[in-house]
Amino acid sequence: MADNIGSQAPPHIALFPSAGMGHLTPFLRIASMLLSSNCMVTLFTAHPTMSATESTYTSLFLSTHPQLKHIKYQLPNHSLPPLQSTTDDPFFLQFAAISRHVHLLYPLLSSASPSFSAIFSDFSLASSITQVAADLAIPNYIPAMARQPPEESVVYVSFGSRTAMSKDQIRELADGLERNGCRFLWIIKSSKVDKEDNQELEDLLGSSFLKRTQYKGIVVKGWVNQQEILAHPATGGFINHCGWNSVMEAASRGMPLLAWRQHGDQRVNAEVVENAGLGIGARDWGWDVELLVKGEEIERKIGVMMKNEKLRDRARKVGEEARKARGTGGSSNKVLMGVIEVLNL
Ligand code: UDP
Ligand code: UDP
Repeated sequence: MADNIGSQAPPHIALFPSAGMGHLTPFLRIASMLLSSNCMVTLFTAHPTMSATESTYTSLFLSTHPQLKHIKYQLPNHSLPPLQSTTDDPFFLQFAAISRHVHLLYPLLSSASPSFSAIFSDFSLASSITQVAADLAIPNYIPAMARQPPEESVVYVSFGSRTAMSKDQIRELADGLERNGCRFLWIIKSSKVDKEDNQELEDLLGSSFLKRTQYKGIVVKGWVNQQEILAHPATGGFINHCGWNSVMEAASRGMPLLAWRQHGDQRVNAEVVENAGLGIGARDWGWDVELLVKGEEIERKIGVMMKNEKLRDRARKVGEEARKARGTGGSSNKVLMGVIEVLNL
């Protein structure tokens, strides 16, 4: 990115399709569009490809688009223990293999010249490439192809920066999301401190869940830009532990919350959420991991949060009030200005 600053160089985009023609074709279309807008484009493909057609079609495309750069990288055969998989779908196994070898991408992405301005990655690789992009500080866009959620239909699930869930509770939450049938973006944490979080998504959720929900949801292990997610028009509800920052960020976006308080000050924060009309509570879901909340119950509450138009209207009003409070002459703004005035005396 630094190369672009001040030099008016065109953006350089890395494209990451996954496996199968249904996933390659839209990326080649995007490549064409970007090239005709004078962007620099590098297409990354994992080898061996799953189907012969992918190789043939890519070669043909490269011959008609000589400006397109191409980086082929090899998926090693035996470097990791075999995947404990409940599926034999070769395309899904290839998605998983690419995801398990994303470490190969670090040197390829970081040594590019000019450096990458953005990564466009396939929906099915979102969980793994998001982390690489975050580590390298390259913005990542996820083309969701034709299966995009039209608005306010995606449930965003995150419990902040330091709340881990037990494996059993993770399974029940997965069950609740799947039963509900909603689209979702789930940021998952299986240990408090990210440095100790070394469990694979397949181990936590089972690869069959990931396959069954591949067009419904994205599960990410790692850091995301929460404020951008809350600002996205597709996001329609937020399952959250009621960390104060998250509550404030949801309030400022008028985003309905399912207040699944966990510990510390979150009991009080959840009450604020309920009393303000910003969200629904889950008081009988226990405190400090004392209960295992079952999938059926999670499914039901997601339904209440997502289908309740009154709640959505009230949350929107909270958003408007929050915006006024921050603006010039608003209550928050006045308090801060008052402090600054005192300091200037
Ligand atoms: N396709 C094609 N020729 C064929 C079979 C498929 O051009 O003989 C293309 C089709 O136009 C589409 C893609 O391959 O762009 C298949 O993607 P789709 O999402 O329809 O199905 P999937 O293969 O992912 O199940
Ligand atoms: N956050 C984020 N991405 C993540 C996880 C958290 O941007 O993947 C941000 C979130 O927007 C919030 C903060 O980290 O500003 C978490 O603070 P909060 O008070 O909600 O919860 P805590 O992590 O302190 O429990």
